[in-house]
Amino acid sequence: MQYAYRQAVAGYKQLLANSEKQKDRHNWFLCAERFKAVYTAQPDGPWSDDAIFMIGDLYAKLSQRSSGVNDKHEALDYFSRLLRRYPHSPHAPEAREAIARLRERKKSTKIIVNGGQAEPEAEPAPEPAPEPATEKTETQTVPSAKAQKESPDRRGLARVEDLRVWSNPDYTRVVIDVEDEVEYSYRLLRKDPSIGKPPRLYVDVSPARIGADLERIVPIGDDLLTNARAAQHMPDVVRVVLDIKTIDDFKIFSLKDPFRVVLDVNGEIGRQPKSKRSVQAKTKPGEKLPDNSLAKQFVLGVNRIVIDPGHGGRDPGAVGYYSGVLEKNVTLELSRRLAEKLRQRVGCEVLLTRNEDKFLSLEERTAIANTKRADIFISVHANAHPNKRVSGVETYFLNLATDNESIRVAARENATSAKNISDLEMILNDLMNNSKINESTALADHVQRSMVHHLSNRYPVRDNGVKQAPFYVLLGAEMPCILVEVAFISNPKECQRLNTEAYQESVADAIVKGVENYIESITPTTAWLGSGS
Ligand SMILES: [Zn+2]
Repeated sequence: MQYAYRQAVAGYKQLLANSEKQKDRHNWFLCAERFKAVYTAQPDGPWSDDAIFMIGDLYAKLSQRSSGVNDKHEALDYFSRLLRRYPHSPHAPEAREAIARLRERKKSTKIIVNGGQAEPEAEPAPEPAPEPATEKTETQTVPSAKAQKESPDRRGLARVEDLRVWSNPDYTRVVIDVEDEVEYSYRLLRKDPSIGKPPRLYVDVSPARIGADLERIVPIGDDLLTNARAAQHMPDVVRVVLDIKTIDDFKIFSLKDPFRVVLDVNGEIGRQPKSKRSVQAKTKPGEKLPDNSLAKQFVLGVNRIVIDPGHGGRDPGAVGYYSGVLEKNVTLELSRRLAEKLRQRVGCEVLLTRNEDKFLSLEERTAIANTKRADIFISVHANAHPNKRVSGVETYFLNLATDNESIRVAARENATSAKNISDLEMILNDLMNNSKINESTALADHVQRSMVHHLSNRYPVRDNGVKQAPFYVLLGAEMPCILVEVAFISNPKECQRLNTEAYQESVADAIVKGVENYIESITPTTAWLGSGS
């Protein structure tokens, strides 16, 4: 690793010594990539903080040369990340100074927007756009698709193809589908009563153009957002604007294959503690709850569990050792059994993200869990390996991968490359705020232990343990969430088992027991007398 870091530093010195090389942005990115590789190979290694600092430094230097706002934003992002993740790094003082310098530059060029209300300092935001132009563009008529087709500017621009929205009164996920990988920047504009403008959050995507079939205004109309709108803001910039009623927090990230930008917006209601929300057992009239389940639900607010049968429709998932056995079918059958057992034994409402053989994007599955306000989210999968002898059960929670095998599994489940997993890991820390990492780890632990214990009564089962990796389907989930790989469909014995009712029943029973154990583990013993927290 020391060697890789030294190589990256050598490349960095070469770049800084060669003004010709510096003219090509690509060379800067190449240099940053080498440092990224050092970091992702060993996030807790002795060179990881140095690598992050160097990436920040590269972007800071690049931002001095370029007029683009993204470079400065990236630099701020990396320096902030260094301070958060490695507060005791010897680079920390330098990083703080660099952040101050970058922000100073922002102030000196700052254009007063929205009656002079300052942007929140904690949020490294891109350079302010000249607001009068912004306002004008946001209200002007979007050129027709025909006019755009005739414009020569459209060459080399990625089409913004779709704007997808899932929403409940306190949470909204907006996904911007873009034809190709592009840059994006964002900015939160505060409320401006003087011109009757609500707060707005916008995302600029470039180089891009509006696709002919794009629905440009998606009405949302809940307590959080009124609309999502897309417009050709500049010849090569598509701006997506969210009109906000109330906002507490937002997250933004991109996923690859295909490229899309995901925005998660939380309202103020969404951040209220559970006890303030109405907590009620969901039962149909005449339906009897199992003993004690009401108490559990009341205390913990485990009202609803969302089960996600992996893959579906045009995505078959992993292909079994025996022909005709597909992951998408096994996960659906298993999830149906699991849902039924959870309803009976835990006594809460259980929803499936899909209950038929249809395609669902990974981000939609999370969006369903969030908009339904699930208290637990379980994504059900079957594993596969080129080596047919590999077998066993493993349970994942969302975090940086700690071994190559986990990266391989995440790459397969995310339908993307191992390299894209490394890129994702770079931003993961920022997305983990408010995620239920401790609860998810505990849930994974109980479910894994229960599966191994319960299944090994009847089958020889290899315990591959609890693991962690950045799964798209768990990104942004706001409840304890896990992904279960119940067996290797590529292994002859396990493939055969997976296809039987007996094995599916056993796996479902085991997962339910794991969920029950998890609920018990976090239930205060003086349930009714305790504070309920
Ligand atoms: Zn899968």
